[in-house]
Order: sequence, then structure tokens, then C-alpha cells
Amino acid sequence: MYSELFDFLPRERIRINEPMKDHSSFKIGGPVDILVLPESVEEIQRTIHYCREKDIPYFIFGLGSNLLVRDKGIRGVAIKVGNNLRNFSIFNEEIFAEAGVRLAELSQAAADYNLGGLEFAEGIPGSLGGAVVMNAGAYGGEMKDVLKEVRAITPDGKLSSFKPEEMKLRYRGSIFQEEELIVVSALMQLRREKAEDIRARMQDFAKRRREKQPLEYPSAGSTFRRPSGFFVGPMIEEMGLKGFKVGGAEVSRKHAGFIINTGNASASEVLELIAIVKAKAKEHYGIELETEIKVVGEE
Ligand SMILES: Cc1cc2nc3c(=O)[nH]c(=O)nc-3n(C[C@H](O)[C@H](O)[C@H](O)COP(=O)(O)OP(=O)(O)OC[C@H]3O[C@@H](n4cnc5c(N)ncnc54)[C@H](O)[C@@H]3O)c2cc1C
Repeated sequence: MYSELFDFLPRERIRINEPMKDHSSFKIGGPVDILVLPESVEEIQRTIHYCREKDIPYFIFGLGSNLLVRDKGIRGVAIKVGNNLRNFSIFNEEIFAEAGVRLAELSQAAADYNLGGLEFAEGIPGSLGGAVVMNAGAYGGEMKDVLKEVRAITPDGKLSSFKPEEMKLRYRGSIFQEEELIVVSALMQLRREKAEDIRARMQDFAKRRREKQPLEYPSAGSTFRRPSGFFVGPMIEEMGLKGFKVGGAEVSRKHAGFIINTGNASASEVLELIAIVKAKAKEHYGIELETEIKVVGEE
């Protein structure tokens, strides 16, 4: 069924029946039928063209740091942008980068060139593409503050440029999530600052993360979106669920807003734990918690 992929993709860019747990920071997830590791925008375009023609479902991801892949895995093709597409260049106060570049690498490179504005991104373990799509943010900064232009592949396979006012960037959301756009690169506007000030902020953020977040365990970051007027961690703690476990999935004792994989957690255990937390939040606070992590794969 998938043999024609080999006509336009080199063998090493295609993996068959690949375990998604090896491609998610949660270390959870069954196999995807075909994993494609594109090296260029054209390879992405050709892959989605092929999938559309053959009516094969496809899924795009970056580095899998905001994903929970179900235990049965993903049917069809998954395209991992975060493996390659990792070029970037800095000119004056702007950085142009491909979607696969790691945010942490961009943040470090900006600091090396005395450019401030990306310090918040230092500890976010995703790709630039994933960060644009999610409007990733931390410690008062977010992608919205720096994005000047984004290039994305539209559902008809063409490349299109988006200006900030067209991106609909908001708390963990953007037009790229709503309209099935594939982010391939972004231009960011930073500002010249003293290197020691930039580094001091980065060190402070890294210290706060190490102290507060369960970085020693696999996770997908904050499990839930922040409901207005509340902080999820303290809320869950007050409900008495800190440390609560379903199999290998645990509400972190260090930060109750994170569900962690303490060993061999399955996706269904994580989902059961999420359902328990949601039900309690509804009962205690009358709040419908929404997941921030993206749950994908066959049910
Ligand atoms: C320890 C830890 C700490 C974290 N801290 C933070 C934090 O402080 N702030 C924060 O915002 N997030 C945080 N996260 C979550 C995560 O790192 C971010 O959401 C990140 O931006 C996701 O990038 P990714 O490349 O891993 O995306 P993925 O997880 O691969 O994908 C996330 C979503 O984006 C889509 N997507 C990814 N790339 C593309 C693309 N190129 N084009 C179109 N769609 C795409 C996917 O389909 C999926 O829906 C944390 C995660 C962990 C594990």
C-alpha cells in the first residue's frame, strides 16, 4: 500500500511500524504504520500529496513533547518535522528558522548573538513548528511576542505566508491548529540586549523549572490548560490527588499539573487518570478542565 512512498523518499527517511513511544517525551504510544522523516519542505508536500491521493490519513508532529499517543498507535502516515529541517540563520535582530529546530537551540543561539526575547523558550523541549502551532510560552513570554512571519503548507499543498495579525495567536492556540496548516519556517524579531542580562534570565527560568517541574520523569508538560482564575497545580493538590496513580501514570508529587510516566505507563492509564482528575475538578470546583496535551491515535 505504501510502496510508492519509496519512489520519492530515500529509504532512510521511512520507518515501517515504528513505535511512537520512541518519538514522544512521554515515552508512551503504540506503533504508527509509517513514519516519514522529511528533509525538505518539498518532501513534506510530496508526502501529503501522496496521502491525499490515496486517501491515507496523515498526522504532522514536531518533537512529540506535547503528545499522548494511544496504545494502538496511529493508522496511516505520521510526518515528523522535528528530526530534520533544522537550519536557521541570524541577521541583525532577526532569526529565520526551519520548523524542526529545537526551541532550546534557538534560545541559546539568540543569547550567543546578544539577542533577547527567546529566553522563555530555553526549557521548552519542543520544535519551533510545534511552538508556533501551540503558541508555546512560559514565565511571561510566548511565541506571539516574537513571531514576525510564518510559512506554512496549506491543505492544498501550497506554501503560504502568515503575518502576526493572521496567526490568531492566543493562549496555547493559533490558526495553524484550527486549519490543518503545516508550519515549515518562521521569522522572529528579537531585540539587542546585554548578554549577561539575557543569560541571567535564562538561568533563573531554568532554576525555577528544575525546582518546580518533574523533569526527571517522562511527561508531556502541563497536562491541562489553565482555566481562567485558577492555577491547575494547586487546584489538583487541594483535591487531594497529588501522587495519585493509575498503573504507571501518576499525578506528579512535585507539580500536580503534570502527569508523569513513572515506568511503563500505558496511554489508557494516563487517560484514565486524566478522566479522574477532570471528574473531581467538576465536582469540587464546577470546572470543566481541558487537556493541553494532544491525544492522538486509534481508539
Ligand atoms: C518537561 C516539559 C515542559 C514543558 N514546558 C512547556 C512550557 O513551559 N510552555 C509550553 O507552552 N509548553 C511546554 N511543554 C509542552 C511542549 O514542549 C510545547 O507545547 C511544544 O511547543 C511542543 O512542540 P513539539 O515540537 O514537541 O510539538 P508536538 O508535541 O510534536 O506537537 C504538538 C501539536 O502541534 C502539532 N504540530 C507540531 N509541529 C507541527 C508543524 N510543524 N506543523 C503543524 N502542526 C504541528 C502536532 O500535530 C500537535 O497537535 C513542555 C513539555 C514538557 C515535556
